[in-house]
Amino acid sequence: MWPLFGRVWALLAVVLGLAITLVFHMRNVHALAVWLRDPAPSKVPIGSGVWEHVFSALYRHVHATFQQQHRLTGALTRFRSAAQAMPDGVVVLDAENHITWCNAAAERLLGLDARKDAGQPILNLVRHPDFAAHVKRASDDALLVMRMSGPQELVLSIRVVPYAQDEKLLLARDVTQAERLDTMRRDFVANVSHELKTPLTVVSGFLETFAEGNVRPDEPRGRQALELMRSQTDRMLRLIEDLLVLSALESSALPAHETAFDVERLLRALVEEARMLSAGRHRVELVTGRPAKVVGDERELASAFGNLVTNAVRYTPPGGSIELAWDLHDGEGRFSVADTGIGIAAHHLPRLTERFYRADTSRSRDTGGTGLGLAIVKHVLTRHQGRLEIDSEPGRGSRFTAVLPARRVRPATAAQPQPTLEKLTRS
Ligand code: ADP
Repeated sequence: MWPLFGRVWALLAVVLGLAITLVFHMRNVHALAVWLRDPAPSKVPIGSGVWEHVFSALYRHVHATFQQQHRLTGALTRFRSAAQAMPDGVVVLDAENHITWCNAAAERLLGLDARKDAGQPILNLVRHPDFAAHVKRASDDALLVMRMSGPQELVLSIRVVPYAQDEKLLLARDVTQAERLDTMRRDFVANVSHELKTPLTVVSGFLETFAEGNVRPDEPRGRQALELMRSQTDRMLRLIEDLLVLSALESSALPAHETAFDVERLLRALVEEARMLSAGRHRVELVTGRPAKVVGDERELASAFGNLVTNAVRYTPPGGSIELAWDLHDGEGRFSVADTGIGIAAHHLPRLTERFYRADTSRSRDTGGTGLGLAIVKHVLTRHQGRLEIDSEPGRGSRFTAVLPARRVRPATAAQPQPTLEKLTRS
């Protein structure tokens, strides 16, 4: 009887042991199942016995994965921020040229919308005759220069760089300014060549006539030819002098010799110059307001003001009048030259200070104009933080005003003579 009883107890003890073990494992499996629903490394369950090893191994693995993920996310965020901050447009394209991602500069330059256009084929969004072929070719050493249509002039240089498997990086750079400078440089060289070629052709033609013995320098036709050759060489010299002045102005940003000089002395010299040039053909007046000293490069300002005066004489038919005036307005110094000459149509005004721009081509050349006078005036005034204002009406005349900022003008002190309005008139 006892042996049977003993065996039942033993069996019960085994069953109980198994049940306890099962409950222990079930609890840990449950903890694991709960954790799997939100598998954060900090929430990995803490087990005991064999589960302690399982959970701590799990913790190490999950923690390492989490850390790596964190590092990758950080790297990706930093990479995107860097790409976002780039002044060039960056577009990531997939194998079918669909937009995967683009930065703010690409949105602005190519007219894309990073959120709405993600997944869209770029060839449907950027329309340009050569763009599709360029994207499809995807060669990293080929550049496409595209002129975009729109309210503002925009020139883009596009490079498409293939990477990974069939993916592409499209880089768009705004080259509007560089293109404009390049065009200006080319136009400048073409203009200078043209300006020099015309008088040189005249001179060489006459020299050939003399060389062939068809005309002698001492006969009337010869003297006339010599006179024409002289005027053409003068024209070339004037052009080269103006070019040298412009290049000197461009080689330094600031005036070289700044002094505080008496503006009235300069004005009187300019009036004399105008009268000499006019040779009695115009009425030339000087109107001076409040006396002042101007702080700046006297030679540069004299040459700029002189160009305005020379133009007034050249573009005013005989019998007209020219008025030089100086005054202070809100502290600014204003030197103006008004004439009753041919005037300028409004559409020419914005371009008048460009090199070689002429409103009246034939008259400018006839009067020996180089086409650089107002470009020099603008340069000099800009170097003195000033500006040029132009008022003009065809057939009625023009007023060119050189405005100097208040900090460059020192009104006469009380010890000096009181401001007077002086008019010097001579016909
Ligand atoms: P230019 O040597 O041809 O006179 P400028 O740069 O001095 O070159 O002037 C540019 C153009 O502006 C001239 O070609 C002329 O058409 C116009 N212009 C300048 N000053 C006057 C003026 N006082 N009256 C009429 N037109 C003027």
